[in-house]
Amino acid sequence: MSNYLFFCLDCQEEFAQHMNMSEYEKGGLTCPKCGGKRVTQHVEAFSAVTSRKS
Ligand SMILES: [Zn+2]
Repeated sequence: MSNYLFFCLDCQEEFAQHMNMSEYEKGGLTCPKCGGKRVTQHVEAFSAVTSRKS
């Protein structure tokens, strides 16, 4: 289970979500704050921060 970071284009809210990429690709992701579907993924920046520490 991975923790992905997303950003809502409607309310400008950033939020983390536990989900598989297959679930994300199904298009079922909505913003937990406003319920909007215009959500973009911020997984790259998020994983870079957590995995760079050695
Ligand atoms: Zn929103």
